[in-house]
Amino acid sequence: MKHQMIQDLHIYNSLTRKKEKFIPIHENFVGMYVCGPTVYNNVHLGNCRTFISFDVVYRYLKFLGYKVRYVRNITDVGHLVDDADDGEDKIAKKAKIDRLEPMEVVQKYTLDFHNVMRQFNTLTPSIEPTATGHIIEQIEMILEIIKNGYAYEVNGSVYFDVEKYNKDYPYGELSGRKIEDLIANTRELDGQDEKRNPLDFALWKNASDEHLMKWPSPWGLGFPGWHLECSAMSTKYLGEKFDIHGGGMDLKFPHHECEIAQGTASNQCTPVNYWMHGNMLTLNGKKMSKSTGNSILPHELFTGENDFMEKPFSPMVVRFFMMQAQYRSTLDFTSEALLAAEKGYIKLMNALNLLDTLPASENSSQDVGKMIQSFYDAMNDDFNTPILVANLFEAVKYINNITTGKEQIKKEDLNQLSTEMKGFVFDVLGLKNEEENHGNNRLEKIMNLVLDLRQEARARKDWETSDKIRDGLKDAGIIVKDSKEGSTWEVR
Ligand code: AMP
Ligand code: ZN
Repeated sequence: MKHQMIQDLHIYNSLTRKKEKFIPIHENFVGMYVCGPTVYNNVHLGNCRTFISFDVVYRYLKFLGYKVRYVRNITDVGHLVDDADDGEDKIAKKAKIDRLEPMEVVQKYTLDFHNVMRQFNTLTPSIEPTATGHIIEQIEMILEIIKNGYAYEVNGSVYFDVEKYNKDYPYGELSGRKIEDLIANTRELDGQDEKRNPLDFALWKNASDEHLMKWPSPWGLGFPGWHLECSAMSTKYLGEKFDIHGGGMDLKFPHHECEIAQGTASNQCTPVNYWMHGNMLTLNGKKMSKSTGNSILPHELFTGENDFMEKPFSPMVVRFFMMQAQYRSTLDFTSEALLAAEKGYIKLMNALNLLDTLPASENSSQDVGKMIQSFYDAMNDDFNTPILVANLFEAVKYINNITTGKEQIKKEDLNQLSTEMKGFVFDVLGLKNEEENHGNNRLEKIMNLVLDLRQEARARKDWETSDKIRDGLKDAGIIVKDSKEGSTWEVR
């Protein structure tokens, strides 16, 4: 565990709407659960923002010396198209459209998700459980909730009894909703509903014959409700009560509200100590979302094949860009902001390269201890990455001044600054030096040669050769993009 002085982490708890000192249930250990993707299509950059935000949380907790069990699920059944209890399963729907087995859809988009997460240099969670792999645990949890009197069965489906629950425990606390208002807003919906109350939500749904994904249960063939998997899997791997639960802001209601109700109804204790919610990534001021078409896929950004950005941006520039907003603020994706982030990222990497070559002096012209403390202070204040980045840039200025002889640093300070800066940039923010990775490598040199040859072909209007090179590279997974300024390339 790092020095006592720096163990002063405060987290904004969405449940209490306050920043609270972080005290884990078991000293030195942290249990953290984050709602993962529903794998029925490619993750867009908005989804990525949420997962990158929690990757930084995971990284910082580890950096402080905590032993963290990080569970992030894969939703591969039960998430219906309207995010509620009726309609088709998102994965089954996609399977029908693409004429695939539902598990083929799951496999395809899980691989895509992992690939994107790798490109963004996010760490793999300790456990990545799937909903379909935990049907038994979900059935057991439903039985427990029924036994405790908070759920009922109708026609082979089981519903959570929200009104009954609300008599014993508060429902709606996380999202600040009052049950009376919720009832007033939903009363008039369909009178055909088999639920006792429209607020009730499905724990288990009876499956009709044409349903693709279904399992035997005490209530007949069916499938679990969307909210249940997270409760069942977090209980299994982190216990009835655990430290941190995260997800995007849009999951607060009903998903997380229902998770609290399920956990409490089954285990008689509220499941989570600190609820954390990441804010949305917006594009042109509107929430990035696949269904509205207002979204960019990661590879479209990396290759530049999109209608929104004027040039391609690399994964690390995008990651660095995301660090410039605190996870609880919205972040708008624009070309200008990404161009600025690119400059900042290069400046930061250059300064880090310089660190190893700096001359040591007798004394330091700055208080390096204080500078380093400011890195911890920023992150301890609810993972405030933009303040951390600003403080790192104070250090960048200092480093640049040392190289020009305007300022000095002594040996011990230099060693400490180097260790801590690299720790914060590489281990906590999760950035990599992309230049270093392919700056000296063979591929870069070969590509420069190939693109030069292609440029020569284009200059003599030999389009056949030029296209042959481009198509051949595409086959090898390298995308070449031509613009007025020349050609750029990206590995897919
Ligand atoms: P889904 O696959 O729809 O269940 O979403 C996966 C995660 O991405 C959830 O935590 C969502 O809250 C999050 N998410 C979806 N859209 C955005 C967005 N525009 N910005 C940030 N996070 C998002
Ligand atoms: Zn969840």
